[in-house]
Amino acid sequence: MKQDNCIFCRIIAGEIPSYTLYEDEKFKVILDVGPATRGHALILPKDHYANLYELPEETAAEVIKLAKKMIARMTDKLECDGFNIVQNNGETAGQTVNHFHMHLIPRYKNDGEILKYIAGKPGQEELEQIRKTIVE
Ligand code: 5GP
Ligand code: ZN
Repeated sequence: MKQDNCIFCRIIAGEIPSYTLYEDEKFKVILDVGPATRGHALILPKDHYANLYELPEETAAEVIKLAKKMIARMTDKLECDGFNIVQNNGETAGQTVNHFHMHLIPRYKNDGEILKYIAGKPGQEELEQIRKTIVE
């Protein structure tokens, strides 16, 4: 399930070098070449799925288990103070590589605001409308 024009498929195939932190039959975890912070890593399933919509449920469960293992080890080794898990789906959401990946971003005291959004102030009516739209 490799796509020839996919940079992450090519990394997984060993055609492009990467700094690998972990590898097994189904996953590879590599350092991001454009890190938000020191140690920023990416979990890549070896099979090509464009995004979370396409990822099989079973693989999704394995990804979060691997994320938990990786952040425990990385917190210990890098001595970071916390972690952000980021996972973008679709261009609008900031996805630039269309091979599912999960960002593991170590956070350090005073490393600045790397992921910031402005909290909205919806009224109760609007929240209720949204709730209905989703659940009904
Ligand atoms: P996205 O914006 O799709 O969620 O994240 C893509 C990430 O892949 C970016 O953080 C970017 O720095 C990283 N990236 C892009 N090309 C390469 C590459 O060739 N090697 C590695 N290790 N990371 C890459
Ligand atoms: Zn791919």
